[in-house]
Formats: sequence, structure tokens, C-alpha cells
Amino acid sequence: MLTLLLSTALISSAKSPLTYQLEQVADRPDLIAVSVETKQLGTFQALPAKTFTNDTQPVLFCVTTNGSQSAVEYQTPIQCDHVTWQLPLAEIDQNGFDIAEQIDSYEPRKGWRFISEFNSLPRFSMGNDDPVPAQVCTPDSQCGWMPNADQPPLFVIWGLKPIELDVNGKAVKITTDTEQILQTVDKWKPALESQLNYLISLYPDNTVNQWDIAFFRRDKQAGSVSGAAGSDKILINVILNDGQLEDNEMPMLLKIAAHESMHLLNTNSPGWASESIAEYYAIKSLDKTPYDFASPQTQWQNFKQSFPFATTGLLEANSRVSKEQQYQYYPLFYVKGPAFWQALDQSLTDKGESLDTRLPTLTFNKDGRLSEASIADLTNVIGEKKWYEIANLYL
Ligand SMILES: [Zn+2]
Repeated sequence: MLTLLLSTALISSAKSPLTYQLEQVADRPDLIAVSVETKQLGTFQALPAKTFTNDTQPVLFCVTTNGSQSAVEYQTPIQCDHVTWQLPLAEIDQNGFDIAEQIDSYEPRKGWRFISEFNSLPRFSMGNDDPVPAQVCTPDSQCGWMPNADQPPLFVIWGLKPIELDVNGKAVKITTDTEQILQTVDKWKPALESQLNYLISLYPDNTVNQWDIAFFRRDKQAGSVSGAAGSDKILINVILNDGQLEDNEMPMLLKIAAHESMHLLNTNSPGWASESIAEYYAIKSLDKTPYDFASPQTQWQNFKQSFPFATTGLLEANSRVSKEQQYQYYPLFYVKGPAFWQALDQSLTDKGESLDTRLPTLTFNKDGRLSEASIADLTNVIGEKKWYEIANLYL
């Protein structure tokens, strides 16, 4: 029985991967056509794309070799030679690309394009729910693998020329729509290198060896900057003031780069911990550079004066966000969370230890709490009294 199961698994994993070919629709800069050859699958079904801020799914068509078209229902068995669909692109305005929205977009002046897996790239499966492996190829023949459904989303970018950096043997590909990022590479590269070296050293078992970073300009007047971590690349907004990259924006840029990089390294923490650890270590990594950032404790002391949910503990905020989608509590992860980790790190340091070495061993319960084993490990060093004092203030 075991042998039989094993050989079945081998056969299905040996299935040749699908290729999603992206093409620009002629005379429509705002429209991308996707086509997948599905003939070799036999009977299969389409699984809805991962969703982000809304539930929209692309409308799929089955195209046979004789050219006839019919609609494809999701999660319904079908046989079909090709599946095609179209993705409308939003035009990026003068303010620049808003990474937070992760909307499929095009830049009419510079010609680059962005597609996120969210709401755009369904998967295909045969019988069971496991998707068939697939790669997504841009019109200029750059291909990326569709990540597993539980991994960060695939981001596809084309139309920008990358530069390659070598960070301690790891290849980091930088793309940007901002000339000034390329012109100032000597300024930020040493800082980013030492930050990434430090962060990588925190996770000795990490298997990440490719690091694509895409910087997109965002006008200061637009009032929002963000970053995002995808399965194989991170996106970072660069603030430009009247088209100029100012020196004092460098710490923010480097902090976001480090924060998003942490998401590639630390993939096993619940929401509150994932964001707060990323933010704490993003700020801590700047200690290794000529740049610095307000300490998490200082930021929290200011923030709590005016934030309406400041008294809510991190665990309650976590459950409100994850179970009830009450995103108004989300900012606590970024400000109260880093203050918690800093307090803990300081207590460990007072005892001659550090949070750094404990980071990869931290475990969490299903409800988001630090596990009993992790708490025991911490109280062994800082004492129960200190632990409860910190937990009471923040958790
Ligand atoms: Zn984050």
C-alpha cells in the first residue's frame, strides 16, 4: 500500500508545470491577456485566485484548438485546451505607485507594469485540491514560480532594467522606476548590506538566497508610503519631495527594506508577532549603519497619547484583526509591538543575553500567544516578575 501511494505521488509530482503567458493586448496599454495551455491536464478545475481587499475573480474562458470559446466556472471539473483571461491595469498617476493597494497597474510614461497574484492569477488542480505547479512568464520572457497558497503572493514586474548587487554571496536584484535610487547606490548600498547581513544571521537555517527589491517613487504630498513582501521580491516606496530624493528619507527607505526582508526570513509567526518583529528588527538593523530611527519605546510613548485603542493588548488586537477584520487595531502591531520586543530585548541584555539568538526558536500557540515553552525559556533568564511586568504592559 505504501509503495503504491509513493508511486502515485511520484507520478503526480512529475507532471509538467503549467505556463501562464502574459501578453500585452494590442493598442490597449491598460489590458493584459493571460493564456495557459491546459490540454495536458485532462480533467481539471480552476481554483479562485487569492484575494486581498475584495473578492473579484477574473472571468475565465476555455478556448479549444478550433477557436471556440466558452466560460469556465471555478471549482467545476472541465476539459479544455487553453484557458485565457484578461487583466485590466490601473494607470499610475503623478503621485506614483501605491504599494499598499497591490493593484495591477501600468506606468504610462515609463512603460513598466505590475501584476499581483491577488484577484488575478487563479490556480488549476486535477481532482484533489493541490494546485498544479505553474510559472508565470512576462511578455519579455522573465518567468517566476507561483508560490504555494500559504506563502506570500507572487508579484510580477516588467519593463524596468534591474541592477545586480552581491550581498555576502546572495544575489540581490534591484529594480526601480527612480533614477535617483540608481544614482545614490553608493550611499545606501553599504547600509542595506550590513542590515541584510545582520538579519540573515538571525536565521541561520534560512533558505532564501535570492533577494529582489523593487523601489517605486511616491510623492511626499500623497501622504502614504509602504512596502510589501511577495514570494520572491519585496516592494518599497521611496518618498520624493518635488521629484527629489532627500537625504533625510534614507532611514525610512532602509527601514522599510529591512522590515519587508524580515518577512522573507521569518515566515512562521502569527500576524501581530510577524509585523512587530519585522518592525523591531528593521529599526534595530539601522543601528549597524550611519542612519538611525526613533527608538520603538519613544515612538510608542508618543503614539499612545493620541491612538484611540492604545490600551488594547497586542493579543486582543491580534484576535480582533484576524477573526473580525477590525483593521483599526493593526497600527498597534507596528508601534506597541516593537516597544514590547525592545523591552524584552533590553531585559535579556541586562542579563547578558539577547533576543537575537532566541528569535528562531520562538514558538506560538494557535491563538497567537507565545508558547509556554518560549515563555519558560524567557523567564529562565529575566525572571517571572520581569516577564509579567512586560506582558502586562503590552500583551
Ligand atoms: Zn510587514
